[in-house]
Amino acid sequence: MVDIKEVAENIILIDDALYSIPEWGSVYLINEEKKALVDTGPTTSVNAVLDGIKKAGVGPAEIDYVIATHIHLDHAGGAGELLKYLPQAQVIVHHKGARHLINPEKLMKSFASTMGERMVQKTGPVTPIDEERIIPVSGDEVFKLGERQSLRVLHTPGHAPHQICILESRNNGVFSGDAIGISVAGGKVLVPATPPPAFDLELSLASLEKLTELNADLIYFAHFGATDRVRESIDIATNKLKTWNTIISRTFNEEGFEAAFKKIRAQLYSELEPARESESLYQYLASGIVAMNVTGFLKYFQEKKHGLRW
Ligand SMILES: [Zn+2]
Repeated sequence: MVDIKEVAENIILIDDALYSIPEWGSVYLINEEKKALVDTGPTTSVNAVLDGIKKAGVGPAEIDYVIATHIHLDHAGGAGELLKYLPQAQVIVHHKGARHLINPEKLMKSFASTMGERMVQKTGPVTPIDEERIIPVSGDEVFKLGERQSLRVLHTPGHAPHQICILESRNNGVFSGDAIGISVAGGKVLVPATPPPAFDLELSLASLEKLTELNADLIYFAHFGATDRVRESIDIATNKLKTWNTIISRTFNEEGFEAAFKKIRAQLYSELEPARESESLYQYLASGIVAMNVTGFLKYFQEKKHGLRW
């Protein structure tokens, strides 16, 4: 049975049972006169999301918007499949990601090459989305859902070029996608998400600064749940990115690539330690997130060093 929880006024968290791990993937339903979903999970989560919507007392045909915080498959891979059940819904997505949802072939190939065949099975295929159902955004657009609820789009690149965050006016909360990183084990673990192919440190830090300036009262993490420790969470993410960068720069220059790889990997393992209380989540983080973060960060670092990013 799907778990749902009202985390702020008219904001319902649906645990989309991402990769069959509890408390790992959050899909949010904003239940106003008009209704919106923030992220969808992958295709393998579509049934959980539909159950969650119904459990909240909302009919799937009442959903007006599906917002993709970014197009990584654990966030928006299921959007095309879900739309079959949401006849009125349009998809809000950053314009840099829109074409990949319309024609997902490249997106699926990129995912398979970074994450491997086993994750492709866990994620499921990506159903293409009809171009007419897509609203491409670039930042600063406002979508009014009701008298007291408007959603403002913020472009927050860094984790990915197509990453957006959404500021909702009713509770002054921000849907952060992966821009602030992942916050799991009840907030005991908060680490930035720095995946290949396009993680960018400078853009990430600039986006975190932009998010600080919002003075939001709540963060709704995609992984996982809501917190009112807004400033603290953004500061932790910022400091970790800076620390990782220092570790990598120093080790890379003094001892080379292999040593930098090992050092940052050991650092990440130690930071994930508190997540051990949930065995399935820890296993996933240790086997998936660590390698992904290390690869993404080192790729960025090498490209910067060789002048490919400037
Ligand atoms: Zn992501």
